[in-house]
Amino acid sequence: GSTIGILGGGQLGRMLAMAAAQLGYRCHVYAPEDDSVAAEVSARFTCADWHDAEALAKFAADCDVVTYEFENVPVGPLAALPQDKLAPGTRALEVAQDRVNEKRFVEELGGRPAPWRAVDDAATARAAVAEVGAPGIFKTRRDGYDGKGQWRVGADGEIPALDLPESGLVYEGFVTFDCEFSVILVRGRDGEVCFWDSARNTHEHGILARSALPAPAIVAEQVDEARALASRVAEALGYVGVMTAEFFATSQGPVFNEMAPRVHNSGHWTIEGAVTSQFENHVRAICGLPLGDTASVSDRIVMENLIGEEALAVERHLSDPAAHLHLYGKAEAREGRKMGHLTRLG
Ligand code: ATP
Ligand code: MG
Ligand code: MG
Repeated sequence: GSTIGILGGGQLGRMLAMAAAQLGYRCHVYAPEDDSVAAEVSARFTCADWHDAEALAKFAADCDVVTYEFENVPVGPLAALPQDKLAPGTRALEVAQDRVNEKRFVEELGGRPAPWRAVDDAATARAAVAEVGAPGIFKTRRDGYDGKGQWRVGADGEIPALDLPESGLVYEGFVTFDCEFSVILVRGRDGEVCFWDSARNTHEHGILARSALPAPAIVAEQVDEARALASRVAEALGYVGVMTAEFFATSQGPVFNEMAPRVHNSGHWTIEGAVTSQFENHVRAICGLPLGDTASVSDRIVMENLIGEEALAVERHLSDPAAHLHLYGKAEAREGRKMGHLTRLG
C-alpha cells in the first residue's frame, strides 16, 4: 500500500513517518491529542477519541495499512476494522497492554519473568508480598510507561499507599541484575526474523537514560536465549513489524521484564548506527517489502535521551561533531519528558 496509518501521535510515530516518507509512503496519524509531534511530519492528522469506532473506521478506510506507535490503543474499536489491514495484529496489543497477560503469555512460551502475582485489592496486595517476598514492585497492569504507575516495596516488606486502578496491579519481585538489555527484532510478512544488536540500557528514575554498544559480556552470553524467546513470542502472535522485549541480565540468565509491540526508545541508535533503522524496517515489514540489513555500522554507539530541560542546550549538543541530535518538537520541556536524543558513533 502507499498510505500508512499510524495510531498514536508521539515521537515514535514522528520517526516512523519520517522513515516512511523516505520510502515514498504517505502517513496519516490518528491520536487523541491535538498537539501531536507525529502529525507535524505527516500528510494528514485525525484528532479523535480512541473509542470513537466510527472515526477510526473512516481513518482506516483511507489507509492501506494501519500500525501503532503506542501500545495502549483500546482493542475494542479495532475489532471492527478489516484485520488484514492491521500490522501487527490486535492480539499483540492485547498481550502487551496488560502486564498479567504479557507475563502469562511469555511463561507459556518458556520465558522467565520475575516472580509475580496479580493484585486486585489490599488483601491480594498483602498476600502477593508475603508469597513473592520483598523487595519488590507494584505496577499498574495497564497504561504504565517511563516508570509511572509503580510503587516500590523495600526489604522490610512494608506496603506503600497504592492507587489501585480498576484494571488492577501486579506485584513482582525485585530482580538483582548485572545490566538491562532489550531484544529488538523485525518480523516480515513471510515470517523472516532479524535482530539488531542488543545495547546495554541504563534507566534513571524509571526512564531510559541511555543505550550503549557494545554491551557487557554478560549480554553477549545471554542474548541468544533472549532472542529465542522473543522470536517465539513474535511467531506465536503472527507478528509483523518491529517488536521489543526488555530483559534483565542476571546470574541466573535472562529474566524477561516486558515487551512492546512497536519500535522502541532503546532502538533509536539504529537510525545512524545500523544499516537499516528500526523505523525503516518496521515500514518495510508492514508494507511487505524485503527487510533491510540490521547490522551495526560501528562497534561503539551511545544513544542518550534528552529529558526535560536537557534538550534546551542545543548549541552544546551540536558542538560535538560525533553527535547526531534529534529533537521531537515538543513545545514544553517538562520534567521527565522525553524531548529528544543524541546518538554518538565511534
Ligand atoms: P517503559 O518506559 O520501558 O515502558 P515501564 O513504565 O513499563 O517502562 P518497567 O520497564 O516495568 O516500566 O520498569 C522501568 C524500570 O524499572 C526497568 O527498566 C528497571 O530498571 C526497573 N525495574 C522494573 N521492574 C523491575 C524489577 N522487577 N526488578 C528490578 N528492577 C525493575
Ligand atoms: Mg513498559
Ligand atoms: Mg520498560
